[in-house]
Amino acid sequence: MMMDQEDADGQNHQPKPRTLCRYLSKWETTFHYLTSSHEGPHYAYCKMCRCNFSVGHGGKNDVSQHDKSLKHKRANHTLGQYLPYGYTGTKYPVHLMQP
Ligand SMILES: [Zn+2]
Repeated sequence: MMMDQEDADGQNHQPKPRTLCRYLSKWETTFHYLTSSHEGPHYAYCKMCRCNFSVGHGGKNDVSQHDKSLKHKRANHTLGQYLPYGYTGTKYPVHLMQP
């Protein structure tokens, strides 16, 4: 009869990422809507989407991904009020995003 002790040692440990990217405040110079997150050092907070997202795996690349996300663009244009009231379309004129 097998004992349970094998399970104790042979657990299916998930390999943890060796190093997680930390949020860097210098990203705020590129992404003005960004700030540090209360979720932890590996998260960023988007003031436009009002959401936290992880930057632990991709670092600034994660921010770029968020920057390109439809959710973020929608929030961006909603706050910017570039669009007519009640506009719910999915096409956003990207050229309106001025540096
Ligand atoms: Zn956002």
